[in-house]
Amino acid sequence: MEKNNLEIKPLSKRLEMVASFVPRGAKLLDVGSDHAYLPIHLINLGQITEAIAGEVVKGPYTSALSNVAESGLADRIQVRLANGLAAFGKKDKVTVITIAGMGGRLIADILESGKEKLENIDRLILQPNNREDDLRRWLQANQLKIITETLLRENGKYYEVLVVEKGHMTLSEKDFRFGPYLRKEGSEVFVEKWRGELDKLNDALKCIPENRQQDRSVLLQKIEMIQGVLDVS
Ligand code: SAM
Repeated sequence: MEKNNLEIKPLSKRLEMVASFVPRGAKLLDVGSDHAYLPIHLINLGQITEAIAGEVVKGPYTSALSNVAESGLADRIQVRLANGLAAFGKKDKVTVITIAGMGGRLIADILESGKEKLENIDRLILQPNNREDDLRRWLQANQLKIITETLLRENGKYYEVLVVEKGHMTLSEKDFRFGPYLRKEGSEVFVEKWRGELDKLNDALKCIPENRQQDRSVLLQKIEMIQGVLDVS
């Protein structure tokens, strides 16, 4: 049977959320594209017409190449073996960069290593798996502004998606940790996530002997910060 090249494979809820912030007509660079599902999906949807899928590791790079070829989009998606932002140059006219499924520190390191290239980028869509606070700190220090954020739960895990453009922001310690928009919105998922963290920290506290005051006070500070944000004690 002939393959239907235009078949739209369902994306994970997480990548679907990242995709939803890519503006129509963007020239996309997806850093750490792995399987290249995100650019394939966006082109199949008709949301964008061209993309670069960047990968630094040979295995995922090969998998991106074969998925792109199988989907019949090799003329629209260039798969490049490259480290972070080295995957594109000026002539590529990239307008939007997505970086998803990595730790917040790694995302910040990738951006730091090529930050002079961010000058001509209209939007970054970042989905850190952890250390979101470090990523927000890096963004603020580099004249980048979060314009919206979202939090979702999939398969028992929580994922934050940060949509970033050029600009200045001044975040508080709570904003760095909880997200300026997420914290204000206080959605059901947000409360569920931080209640879960609170339970874990309270359990951890029970295991720390009374004589280890310094360890206890670090945990207590974290607990109090979450309680303050959730408005519970
Ligand atoms: N972005 C996809 C997603 O969200 O489903 C794949 C996430 S996968 C867990 C992370 C990918 O990033 C891996 O394939 C890894 O090889 C790639 N990666 C890590 N550091 C990178 C870098 N500096 N430049 C390009 N790719 C990188």
